Amino acid sequence: MMRENTVFGPISSRRLGSSLGINLLPQQGKICNFDCIYCECGWNKDGLGDTVLPSARDVREALTSKLEACRAAGTPIDSITFSGDGEPTLNPEFPQIIDLTLELRDRYYPEAKVSVLSNATRIGKEAVFQALCKVDNPILKIDAPTDEGVRKINQPTGDYSLEKVLENVERFQGRFVLQTMFLKADGWESGEWAGPWMDIVRRLKPREVMVYTIDRETPQQGLRKYTVEQMRALVQPLIDEGFNIQIKG
Ligand code: SF4
Repeated sequence: MMRENTVFGPISSRRLGSSLGINLLPQQGKICNFDCIYCECGWNKDGLGDTVLPSARDVREALTSKLEACRAAGTPIDSITFSGDGEPTLNPEFPQIIDLTLELRDRYYPEAKVSVLSNATRIGKEAVFQALCKVDNPILKIDAPTDEGVRKINQPTGDYSLEKVLENVERFQGRFVLQTMFLKADGWESGEWAGPWMDIVRRLKPREVMVYTIDRETPQQGLRKYTVEQMRALVQPLIDEGFNIQIKG
């Protein structure tokens, strides 16, 4: 299970380069409105009960001192990435935190891209949507093309309607990155719904699609990976149609 400070890294990411992480969730616990069977942070119920969310002020302090230290040491930073122990948009100060992060990025590392990994459930909130529109890479997760599929792979903890999420994502008018997990579980696998999932990609027209598979230990046992070749075969129609697809094994 990850236990991340509010600002961590930079870590080396194959896709994002030297990536400084920001965790807007508690340092000792996971908070998410999904409970994905592959979540690298483990199950929600196994969080350590820490519910203290960093405030905008905490993030400003931690990020300023980290950026100052990195700049003094000559450490490259290609991306400032919101990821961590849960869903970052659940932090009530998320919009202010995005604003201050963009401001500090401009001051210390103007070339760095700001990326947010989100499960897209909260973009119906106008302030969250507007904040995500400001960052370089809003990376939105849609793992399955039906409510039933989402229940299997993401296990939403509250009300969830995929159609609602899709309507909200349409408001980005393609200016976002779609991220989709492909995996095999007992009795079902993501490839079964590749057809309707591709129809969602055609509907949302993301500027980039990131398809990936499990990499580390998962809270649900018995999950299996796809190979890069298998994933490429599944998404080949989209590649042929000219979509920008990154496949990560
Ligand atoms: S949305 Fe992300 S943080 Fe939340 S359960 Fe899924 S993988 Fe974990």
